[in-house]
Amino acid sequence: MCLTIPAKVLEIRDQKAKINKDGQEFEIDIRSVPNLCVGDWILYMSDIAVQRVSPEDAKEILELLEHVNKTDPSKLEPRFVDVIKASKLRKLEKAEIEYLLSVEGLEKEALFSEADMMRKALIKDFFCIHGIIEFSNYCTMDCAYCGLRCQNTVLKRYRMSDDEILEAIDKGAAKGYKLFVLQSGEDPHYTKERLVELVRKIKEKHRIFIFLSIGDRDYETYKALREARADGVLYRFETSNPELFAKIHQKGKKLNKRFEHLKFMKKLGYFIASGSIIGLPDQIIGDLADDIITTRDMNFGMVSMGPFVPSKNTPFEHEKAGNLDMMLKMISILRLEMKDTRIPVVTAHETLDPEEGRKKAIKAGANAMMLNLTPEKYAEDYAIYKRKEAINNAMWEKYGLYNSDDSYKMLEEKLQIS
Ligand code: SAM
Repeated sequence: MCLTIPAKVLEIRDQKAKINKDGQEFEIDIRSVPNLCVGDWILYMSDIAVQRVSPEDAKEILELLEHVNKTDPSKLEPRFVDVIKASKLRKLEKAEIEYLLSVEGLEKEALFSEADMMRKALIKDFFCIHGIIEFSNYCTMDCAYCGLRCQNTVLKRYRMSDDEILEAIDKGAAKGYKLFVLQSGEDPHYTKERLVELVRKIKEKHRIFIFLSIGDRDYETYKALREARADGVLYRFETSNPELFAKIHQKGKKLNKRFEHLKFMKKLGYFIASGSIIGLPDQIIGDLADDIITTRDMNFGMVSMGPFVPSKNTPFEHEKAGNLDMMLKMISILRLEMKDTRIPVVTAHETLDPEEGRKKAIKAGANAMMLNLTPEKYAEDYAIYKRKEAINNAMWEKYGLYNSDDSYKMLEEKLQIS
């Protein structure tokens, strides 16, 4: 089901272009695509041109579309068509995002395929597989949702040695992984000096990207790590609602501080992956719309969001998990709003639907994947929540990892990290 389709411009008069659809000629508004010429190929939606595409891309998209149903816009709610159309021309407003988050049935399917179409059209099938190494489950924080919280005395704690971390990197790099996330609880045991040394060693040995997910370290630590050539950070703001944030983090973590960190991380030149948790207790649709607006307006290079999964031995143990469809709608709307950003499928998403979760997320506009490279003997104890991951990692690795220097260069270009 697709609303946005390619067409060749046959004639131009004033701000209108004539195109041919299913044997019939009709006119579309081309104001949003300047300097269009007769013979150009465009993507258009109902009666407006969305963007110019090369003839090769148009051909590829038309071939892809042969395998999907084209949506007849007359069968969709007029408000839905209007909002999708608006998303091509300007940033969506909060009420429009709330509306998209609430659509069901035909409109929901059309939203997913519209985002899938944008993914294919704008970033093609460039698909990235990242590896995450969870090197310590010690944490000084008390996040009410997280199984690593310091009050969880039942959890068996572990810390990986530097050699173990390096070995996990070696193994992943040998398979063709080019981007690694080093994640831990808030664990001061890994000092600034130790982390700097670790990153330096990794970067000396491998031509790979290193992203850090180590929480609220100070400016000096992040500065030193950037100087040691760490490339990115994975650091979520968790929720854009300050009251909800305060309720779920009573000690230490502050929403203001999260945003301050994100700002200085950007200034330091880190590539930023951030976002929120979807389906937290007491979170309402308006909060999720605000999360989308925050993510869009802060223009993160990568979106890191995932559904809430209740975790044992936490205050939220008996709460309801986030809803998979809501998660997919969040992905789709962010794809429409941020066009060519990277949206990975995260492990929490797979926990909700281990077999189909990855495919559904890609068909809703996701274009990357985070696979777990934590050594088996530790992975079970990194119990943010009880995980159920898809088992076919090998299949994704086979098609998504390329053991050539070209694939590093390609990623370098796409990430634009200097
Ligand atoms: N300590 C680091 C930080 O705070 O940025 C990184 C580690 S933390 C475990 C990584 C992420 O896990 C958090 O940002 C949070 O969004 C996510 N998380 C923790 N518990 C979760 C749960 N029960 N459901 C979904 N996501 C969860």
